Amino acid sequence: MRFNPSLTSRLRIGFLVLFALLLLVSLLGVGRLFQVRVNYEDDITRFSQLELESERLRSAFILEQAAARPAIGQKLPSQTELNRAAANFSEAAGRAHDLTGDEAGLSSSLSQLIANEAAWRKKVAQPLVNGNIPSPGLESRLTKEVTNSGDALATGTRSARDDSRDDARAETRNTTLLVAAGLAGALLAALILFSGLINSMRAPLGRLVEGARRLAGGDLRTRVEVGGPVEIATLGRAFNEMANSLERDARERDRIEQMKDDFVLTVSHELRTPVTVVKGFAEMLTAQRKSLNARQYEAAEVIAESSAQLQKMINDLLDLARSDAGKLRIEPKATPVEPLVQRVGRQMRPHFEERHQRFTVSVENDVPEVEADADRVAQVLANLLTNANKYAQEGAQVRLTATRVGDEVEFAVSDDGPGLGGEELDHVFDRFWRAQSGETQEVGGTGLGLAIAKSLVELHGGAISANSTQGEGATFRFVLPIAKDGQPTRTEPASRTKAGAPG
Ligand code: ADP
Repeated sequence: MRFNPSLTSRLRIGFLVLFALLLLVSLLGVGRLFQVRVNYEDDITRFSQLELESERLRSAFILEQAAARPAIGQKLPSQTELNRAAANFSEAAGRAHDLTGDEAGLSSSLSQLIANEAAWRKKVAQPLVNGNIPSPGLESRLTKEVTNSGDALATGTRSARDDSRDDARAETRNTTLLVAAGLAGALLAALILFSGLINSMRAPLGRLVEGARRLAGGDLRTRVEVGGPVEIATLGRAFNEMANSLERDARERDRIEQMKDDFVLTVSHELRTPVTVVKGFAEMLTAQRKSLNARQYEAAEVIAESSAQLQKMINDLLDLARSDAGKLRIEPKATPVEPLVQRVGRQMRPHFEERHQRFTVSVENDVPEVEADADRVAQVLANLLTNANKYAQEGAQVRLTATRVGDEVEFAVSDDGPGLGGEELDHVFDRFWRAQSGETQEVGGTGLGLAIAKSLVELHGGAISANSTQGEGATFRFVLPIAKDGQPTRTEPASRTKAGAPG
């Protein structure tokens, strides 16, 4: 099994390794500095003692010289004094020998001094004590050799002490540098360790972020490759489980939606024929007013009106169900705008007159043909005009316009009726949505008309929108693409912006 420690374990291991490295470097550095200090102190003590001993050697030699001095007056050279001084010399030489340690230069200076002193004692001091005076040349040469080698030992000791101090300084500096380099190295190792840790998380986290974005964008088949530290791997697995369950839910929802669409489609279709028959018979009855009494005529009229409403509703439901199933078909072709707009205006005019509303139709000069299914566009326009007629108060003003805007033609229906609030505008194209206001509730409706208008406009590749300020009226606009090689619609001057009487 692959070793995959958790995030906390990785951090713990990282900190432990870092701590151990820093501790090791610090201990080694401090130990080394301590050792250098101790060695230096030992050397300084040793060389000071050696210096002392070389002074003692010098004094012992002076005593030896005094003991072997030729007789001045009554005082004769004494063998005993010479022996004592010589013993002092050799004792000091013994101690000095212990102190030279492994310093070869000092050892050889000391040996030279001892040898020179022995030669001086043998050839100068002893003959003098015995009463034989050596030649002055020999005496002064051998005495000088002893003195010189004593000086050499003293000088050597001093320079050895200086060397030891310089060595200690250099070692202290080097050790400090080494410790600093070690600490920097340990910190670098920590940096590499932590950036490795971060890198090990970055790739799987990046995949998760990308996956979450794609999932949010609607791609429910998104899954991420599970990896990284245990916690992130667990997150990855949880993400995949969530995506599985979302995909399952979406499939189930689609299935239910499909069933609902099929059901609405079938029921609306099955209802259409009987309702058409009822409406036909009711209209036939109302046409024979003379053979009916007042109550019968009223009943026939109610049946005709209700079945007309029912028929509209069934047609709307069928349109929506077809639109959902992708079965709502349009047959777009190059369609002149002016005749289409005027036709709808003519059909709607009686309704406006009935409510004493001022209705104007205006088509901009030379508006090009649109690529559209004329009947469906008429249906959308009729819907918008019916709403303006229904929801605006008696005596209101309603305008229908068509103008070219860039590569499109814009159709607009505006009224100075009650309008809609900002929140309401957000829902106005939702299915079955109707405003809560008293004006709306007084007027009959299903809340389907604008949803169908939106589907139809979008099916044409256009867009629909609503603008309104509550209490000041509403404007519904939709745009349709201009037909390729579309001809401009020639507008009769008399019909342009003619209030009240289009066409
Ligand atoms: P319906 O008219 O059958 O209720 P619609 O989809 O055509 O359904 O309209 C939805 C709702 O939008 C209406 O119920 C009404 O509240 C509001 N509405 C539509 N047109 C207008 C308008 N011109 N002025 C004020 N409110 C409107």
